Amino acid sequence: MSFSKFFSNRHLNIAPYDTAGEHLELERFIKLNTNESPFAPSPKAIKYAARAAENLNLYSDPDCTELIAKLAETLGVKPENILCGNGSDEILNFIFAAFCDDERGAAFPDITYSFYKVLANFHNINYATPELDKDFKINLDDYINNSRTSFIVNPNAPTGLFIKLDEIERLLKSNLNNIVVIDEAYIDFGAESAVKLINKYENLIVVQTFSKSRSLAGGRLGFAVANSNLINDLRAVKNSLAPYNINSMTQAAAIGALEDEKYFEDNINSIIQAREFTAESLRALNFKVLNSLGNFLFAEHERISGVKLFEELNQRKILVRHFSKPERINNFIRITIGKLDDMKALIENIREILNA
Ligand code: PMP
Repeated sequence: MSFSKFFSNRHLNIAPYDTAGEHLELERFIKLNTNESPFAPSPKAIKYAARAAENLNLYSDPDCTELIAKLAETLGVKPENILCGNGSDEILNFIFAAFCDDERGAAFPDITYSFYKVLANFHNINYATPELDKDFKINLDDYINNSRTSFIVNPNAPTGLFIKLDEIERLLKSNLNNIVVIDEAYIDFGAESAVKLINKYENLIVVQTFSKSRSLAGGRLGFAVANSNLINDLRAVKNSLAPYNINSMTQAAAIGALEDEKYFEDNINSIIQAREFTAESLRALNFKVLNSLGNFLFAEHERISGVKLFEELNQRKILVRHFSKPERINNFIRITIGKLDDMKALIENIREILNA
């Protein structure tokens, strides 16, 4: 990368997140590439956001008081256990700032959410990236008795594979002097959350987002759930960088989304149903499909390369995600689960491409 002569030499080694190609001519594409929800936000979320727009002359509540009260009630924790971020990306940034340093590096799998590397580089944090095993599972032994802050995405992305809570507890127990972050961006699509463990383990931070199951990716809202000491640390970082980090419309929209529990559950059930339909259909076409509990599937076919399938689908105006690196996964595509009709269209197109 090249920078202007004014750019701080503290940051000459950063490696920014690559969003290129994520926002191509959206209307004409079936967009199955960024793990968003295919469903609009709840009507209640839209109504509350519109109402909040009338007061945009005022600063937003820096403590997200009303939102956090509602969220605490939904999760069965106390308000003091929650901090909100501008997307969970911002929460992860705060975690790197608060809990990683020259003595305490980071650890996350070689195949996982790629933003961890971006943040580690930005914060100049040494990081280890243990390899997934041959079945693409996270080998927790690689993180046991660690001297690093561990970041485990559960279910992992892009594999969708889930680690059970008793295994997570083993990890927490063996790392009593380090933070273990469980990133649950995809937890609502059928997996079990570690939120219930926050009072048992003082080293646990659970991170969740409104971007997937709650249809608010553009609103940018994520949150950390942990014991109040860790939340206080994170709040100190937040108030040093971005005190008013959540805008008023997003705070209001999120309250609306939380009040509309039925809409949330119906959408999740639709996604799970469409995921199972898509997985079965792909397997019937001889794809290898990992057992995902997320709102996406990770699949490969022995007769067509990942990049070829990505390109063929792209020409047919269906956008999926292909990762060229690491090599182990470059034959796979990651397919976000959309509405059932879109998934049927995807399968029909794949069938044509394969001539099956
Ligand atoms: N964690 C994981 C595992 C993700 O896949 C994503 C979304 N790309 C995020 C965090 C960040 O999501 P957001 O900032 O929209 O909450």
